[in-house]
Order: sequence, then C-alpha cells, then structure tokens
Amino acid sequence: MRTRLTTAFLATVLGPVVLGALFIGVTVNTVNANRAAERMDHAASAVRTSISALCAQLSTVAEAITAAPPERRLSLSAQYAERGLVSGVQLQNGVTTIGAPPPPWADCAAPVSEGEHEAIAAHTEVVSAAFTVDAELLRRLSDASGARVKLVPGVRPQSGVDNRVGLGRLSLLKQRTDLTRRLEPVAGQPLPLELSVPTAPPRGMLALLILVVLACAVSAVVAAWWLARTTTNPLVGLAAAADRVAAGDLEARVPAGGKDEIGRLANAFNHMTRELSAYVNALTASRDQLRGHLGVLGDTLSSTHDLDRILQVILQTARHATGASSGVVLLSTDGMLVGQCSEGIALPVRVPIGSGLVGSVAATGVPRIGRVDRDGPRLVEGEPACNTYVVVPFCLSESLGAQGVLALYDRLGRDEFDDSDLDTLRTFAGQASVAVDNVRIHEEAQRLSVTDPLTGLFNYRSLRDCMRRETDRAGRFGRRLAVLALDLDHFKDINDRYGHAAGDAVLAEFAQRIRYEIREVDVAFRQGGEEFALLLPETDEVGGMVVAERLCEAIRRTSIHVGELRISVTVSIGIAVFPDHGTTGPAVLQAADEALYAAKTAGRDTFRVAGDSGLVGIGGASGGPQAPRQASGR
Ligand code: GH3
Ligand code: MG
Ligand code: MG
Repeated sequence: MRTRLTTAFLATVLGPVVLGALFIGVTVNTVNANRAAERMDHAASAVRTSISALCAQLSTVAEAITAAPPERRLSLSAQYAERGLVSGVQLQNGVTTIGAPPPPWADCAAPVSEGEHEAIAAHTEVVSAAFTVDAELLRRLSDASGARVKLVPGVRPQSGVDNRVGLGRLSLLKQRTDLTRRLEPVAGQPLPLELSVPTAPPRGMLALLILVVLACAVSAVVAAWWLARTTTNPLVGLAAAADRVAAGDLEARVPAGGKDEIGRLANAFNHMTRELSAYVNALTASRDQLRGHLGVLGDTLSSTHDLDRILQVILQTARHATGASSGVVLLSTDGMLVGQCSEGIALPVRVPIGSGLVGSVAATGVPRIGRVDRDGPRLVEGEPACNTYVVVPFCLSESLGAQGVLALYDRLGRDEFDDSDLDTLRTFAGQASVAVDNVRIHEEAQRLSVTDPLTGLFNYRSLRDCMRRETDRAGRFGRRLAVLALDLDHFKDINDRYGHAAGDAVLAEFAQRIRYEIREVDVAFRQGGEEFALLLPETDEVGGMVVAERLCEAIRRTSIHVGELRISVTVSIGIAVFPDHGTTGPAVLQAADEALYAAKTAGRDTFRVAGDSGLVGIGGASGGPQAPRQASGR
C-alpha cells in the first residue's frame, strides 16, 4: 500500500510539473524564434541604411573632388582620406591615394554580385572614391544592427585578424542556434553580406527551469514518502493488533488516533476489542458457573438417592442455565401436582392436574412456553404468579400423563424464554426423569432386600438387624423387649391337602392378620417357611402373653378363605423377654424358640413363656401329648 500511495502521489505531482516545464520550454523557444526574426528584420534594415549612407558619403566626396580644379584634386583627396571620409581615391590620370585596396571596387551604383571586392566606391567621370571593407567596418555594422555581420565567401576582407575571430565565433554560434539571412548586393548596398542573430534562449533560464523541475521532483518524492508513511503506519499497527486479536489476545490495543478516518478506525477497533473482551469474560464466567453447576448436578446424581436433594440441584442448574428468576419442581400425588422444591417461590404449591399452567402440562405431556398475558392460560389459585414461563413435563407414561413438571418463570435480562431455553429445560427434565426413576428403583430394591415378597413382612435378614438394634436400645435404656416366635400348626398337612398355592395364600393371610393385631411400633418378620417372629419394644412378659393370646385367638377364630376353600389354621407361640431370658438378641430368640417348642409339645394352638414351659396359654387348647417339632424353619 505504501508503494502504491507513493507512486500515485508522484504521478499526481510530477506529471503536471514535467508537462509545465515542457510547455514553458516550448513557449520560450517559440518566443525566442519570433524575437530573432524581428531582430533580423531590424538588423537588415539597419545594415542597408548604414551602407547606403556610406555610399552617399562616397558619392559626395567624389563629386566634390570632381568639382575642384584638376591640380587641387590630389591634395583634396588626401584631405578627405585624412578626415576618414574615404579610404582611397582614384583619379582619371591613374593616381590612387594610399590607404585603399587596389581596385576593382564594388560600385555603389551598379553592384556586381560576383567577384571579390575589398572596398566599395562611388564614381564620377574623373574620380572614384572608395571605402575599405574591413573588420572595423563589419564591427560597426554589427553594433549598429545588433546582428553579427560578415561578408559572404568570395569577398575577402582586407585585414582579417579580428574578422576571422569574429567569423569563428559566429560560425560556432550558428552551428548551434543562429538565425541567418543573406543580403544580396543592390544599388546603394553593393556588398554581399550575411547577417545572423542568436535564437537560443538564455542558458540561465534553461538551467533554472531544469533546477526547478528537479527541486519539484525531490520535494515530491520526500512528500510522497512522508505521506505514505504517516498514512500506512497506523494501518500497519492496526493490522498487527488485529492479528493479535485473531490469535486470542483480546488485550491488544492500538494507540488512540486523532479525529481523522484512521483515528476513528483505531478508536472503533479499541472499542470493539474492549467489548469483545468483556463479552468473552462474561461468557467464560457463565461457562465456569454452568460447569460448576453441572459438576454439582453430576455428583449429586451419582452419589445420592435423596430425591429432594436431586430435584433441588436440577432446578438450581436449570434456572442458572436459562436465567430464570424463579422455578419449581412438582410431582403428581393423588391427582394433584405438589411442589417438591422451589427457588424464588414459597412452598407449598398444590395444583390439580389438568388445571392452570403446570396442571395442563402435566395432563397433556406437552411443554409450554410464552407470556401469560398473551398466550395464557389462566393461572389457578395456588399456582405461582408469573409473566413469562417455560414448563416441561418429565417421567411421562402413556396412560397417566406426566408424573412430574419442571417450571421456570420470568427470565432475567431478556423478555421471554426462547427455543434454546426450552431445549435446555428438556435436557434437565430428562435428568429429572432419570433421577426420579433411579430413586424409585433404588427404594424398591432396598425394600425387596429387607422384605419377604410373599407376605410383605420383613425377612430373616431384617430380623437380625432389627433384633440387634432393639436389644442395644433396650439394654441402654433399661427397657424390656418381648420376642415372639410363631409357627403354624400342621402346616405340612395344609400343603398336602390343598396344594402349595393354597398354602402360600394361607401364609399371606396369616401375615395380614398379624399386622392387624400388633401396634405400630411392633415389627413382624417371616423367618422362613411357616415360621414368624415378632419384636415388641417396651413390652414385658405379661404384655407378650396378651399379644400371643390375641394372635392365637385371631387365627383360630376365623378360618382362612382361599377361593372356595375355608381352611382352619392354628398357631403356636413361644415368648421370651430381653433381658430376662437372654442378654443378647440370638439368646433371646433361642429362648423364644425353645418356648415355642414347649407350646408345640403342650398341644399346639397355644403359647409358652421361656423358662416357664409349664405355663398354659390363656384360653389355649389343652396340652395333650404332641409330636415333637420337626424343623426350626430357618
Ligand atoms: P408342626 O405343627 O410341628 O409345626 O407341623 P408342621 O407340618 O407345620 O411342621 P413342618 O416343619 O414339618 O412342616 C413345615 C411345612 O411348611 C413344610 C413345608 O412344605 C411348608 N412350607 C415351608 N415354606 C413354605 C412356603 O413358603 N409355602 C408353602 N405353601 N409351604 C411351605
Ligand atoms: Mg409348623
Ligand atoms: Mg415349622
């Protein structure tokens, strides 16, 4: 660019200068030529006049000598010659005055163009008056006319040193630029002469012209270089700064310029990089923040099965990702959407499914985005108030609609939520679905690991844990814990008689009756087979007996319905109390088992207390001899 600017400037400035110089040169030459022609005309006229005057002078002298008496003519001639009016006089008698070249002389009255004449003369019948044509005469003619005057070849000057010099200089000048004119002999001017005047312009002017052109050229080059440099330097700086920005250095700035276009460009560039830097910083901060939230979300999803905590983190992350000012997560419970966690909204939030904004999304499973005053719907009582919203369902099931709804309200900064916010929220809704499913699956797995699938009671594994926990607590606080071991009587016969499936149904119904008969703090277990156990916290021996009696009665009193069948069942129960019959869980359980064995032995459908095998159950069947217990069931 610098080269192009320099070239353009030089072409713009130097072109007119050179053309102007050429024009001036041509004009000066033309004017000089015209002036030379004028001077030549003037010189020719002056030369002719001078020669004519000389001829007239010679004619006068000749006539004066003719008019004198013959004896005085010689002396008179000498006088005229002495006065310089003539160079020589020739009388008819052949006498010639000294000082004139020998004849023939050019005749003023009848000139001859050919031949050499060293003098011009005027004649009368008796006398010829001559004037020598010498270098002095030619010099005087030159002075009078302003042109260089010389005799044409064939006329030899009488004395020629100065004349030769003058001719040499004339010749040299003529070769260069002289304008010449030949004067042919005519009456009154008998000499063949050549006049020359110089036509060349003054050398100083030409030199001055060249000097001016050179000075202009030099100053134009300097000005072009300076102009190109001052113009391109800021652009070079700007380009370097732009390269740095492109390489990622957003701190790049260019020196603040003036008020010209380049200065404004520099200011605009600095403004742009400042804005860009601020924008990138904000973006980085936002990205870091989002990354932090996603990290928390990931950690939470992978490390906890606390549903409330997971939903809270999902809501928090979704709100930050979309710039919403508030939000809520709702799950469906018994036809109602119930707020589980919220940000910027006070709980509780309860909205019937199918009503209002979140209710309609839960019912239809279709996400909604928009403004309440423009797009509706009408918000129902209990629903969070808002201007703008984006609501998505999660945990969609084909028959039931959505089990949950994720709702964000009133976007900060901009007016409304857009499609990218909806996409973001869908992503978080997907995570919420996975979280809810995972938590439910985990809860189910946990439940299955501690319960018996047939009866729904806790299993033997739970019995051990619970027994340890309860004996610890009872031991620490000095309390009692009653343990009841239960075994259905002759259950093998029921299986054999009605089938295994009927036996299962009897077991399930038996468990149901146990559940019904005990308190909330009491815990029932199925140890295995048709053997069960009960833990009765805060219960002593008497309390245990009351419960055992009630259970025997409840089973005995009403036969169990299995389809069309009515199966009568009885149960035998052994009772042991911590710490009276054992100071550890297994020991108490062992004591209860032994009491159960005693009850069986006592005739079944009754209970016994550990260490007191003779005590007959309240209202129990009579204790006749019974078959010994077949299996422990574990
Ligand atoms: P007792 O009065 O001495 O307790 O006699 P019993 O027949 O009840 O005792 P036994 O231990 O001999 O028989 C237990 C039977 O329970 C054997 C087994 O077939 C049956 N049983 C164990 N678990 C299940 C089960 O899950 N379902 C069904 N239907 N029967 C089971
Ligand atoms: Mg049994
Ligand atoms: Mg048994």
